Amino acid sequence: MRIRHFVALYLLVATVWAAAPAMAERLPVISGARVGVHPESTRLVFEMDRAVPYKIFTLADPFRIVIDFPEVSWRVSEARMRTAAGLVSRFRFGLFQPGNSRVVVDVKAPAMVTKHFILPPKGSKPRRFVVDLNPVTRDAFFAGARSAQSKNWTKQKRPASVSGATPKPKPKRSGDRRRVIVLDPGHGGVDPGTVGVTGSYEKHITLAVAKAAKKVLEASGRYRVVLTRTRDVYVRLRDRFEIAHNNKAEMFISLHADSIGSRKIRGGSIYTLSDKASDKEAEDLANKENKSDIIAGADLTGYASEVSRVLIDLAQNDTNRESWHLAKMLVGELKKKIKLLRTSHRYAGFAVLKSPNVPSALIELGYLSNRTDEKNLKSPRYRKGIGQALLRAADRYFARKELNNRS
Ligand SMILES: [Zn+2]
Repeated sequence: MRIRHFVALYLLVATVWAAAPAMAERLPVISGARVGVHPESTRLVFEMDRAVPYKIFTLADPFRIVIDFPEVSWRVSEARMRTAAGLVSRFRFGLFQPGNSRVVVDVKAPAMVTKHFILPPKGSKPRRFVVDLNPVTRDAFFAGARSAQSKNWTKQKRPASVSGATPKPKPKRSGDRRRVIVLDPGHGGVDPGTVGVTGSYEKHITLAVAKAAKKVLEASGRYRVVLTRTRDVYVRLRDRFEIAHNNKAEMFISLHADSIGSRKIRGGSIYTLSDKASDKEAEDLANKENKSDIIAGADLTGYASEVSRVLIDLAQNDTNRESWHLAKMLVGELKKKIKLLRTSHRYAGFAVLKSPNVPSALIELGYLSNRTDEKNLKSPRYRKGIGQALLRAADRYFARKELNNRS
């Protein structure tokens, strides 16, 4: 009798085990999300097809509630995520790192999670995950800020690679004489970047441009191109330039697309690192781009001040000079393919350009707030054109470098 039980159990375990890989393919689905205002609290409700483990914690300045799930499929409209109600001003969703999806809720005032639970399906109502928020004083917020609340949550292991998105740097095969260029598609995952007039996300545009440019650059046979991310996932700003360092890259180009109040303004621009900004707009832009880690709800304890403060040390001066030449060549080649702003090369304290030894530049490819720029950036032909401009700029940049090395 006992043996029979054992066999049955064994068979059950074996069946579940065999089914596991197939199950892993189907991610849990979050099909709805809403914010409700109740007399005593603001309630967040997420509809899901099965119970998932979760972890909730809070972050300050600005005040945010962060909810982590295993990787899930998110089917909630963008418009819904922008409806402000009660304590909530808006929320966003995305992949924080492989295997870990995240919701970041921006709250108008310090708030604490007072209740969290999963309700089983009932009648026509699907399974719901409920989180109640209540306002607290700033002091009370900080007193409870470090403690996370969770259910069935096991610490998600940070993948071995620095970004969690890109595989470990492949050591160059001996005889591979190609130079390494790192392209950095701006934003990603829970940080969408800017949203265009017709709703296109900066994070998708930058990834598509990076993939197109990689194709063109590698087709030349002269370059090996590494992307800081190859899918829709968040990557810390600091990890982005570390990928360049770890791959022994000789060039780092961060790709972005901006938006602005006036829908008429269009054109791209190129930026390099400086502790003093060339102008007010460049400074504002750097501040905006540097918020990526905050938007993604990354815990930056002992890290924020380092990134936001751009101090350029002596060792960086050489790199900065090289970055300057790189930017000039990017301007020269890009203007043949895309419309650039009148002042096309500017500088400011961009955290992502802080690599101490890899010449770096950031390209704003255009304004997604402008219909023409947005339409162009969605066109594969246009993206290929950008790739061709990057190829010619890289060729010119390295030709100059070789000439300098010889003399
Ligand atoms: Zn950006």
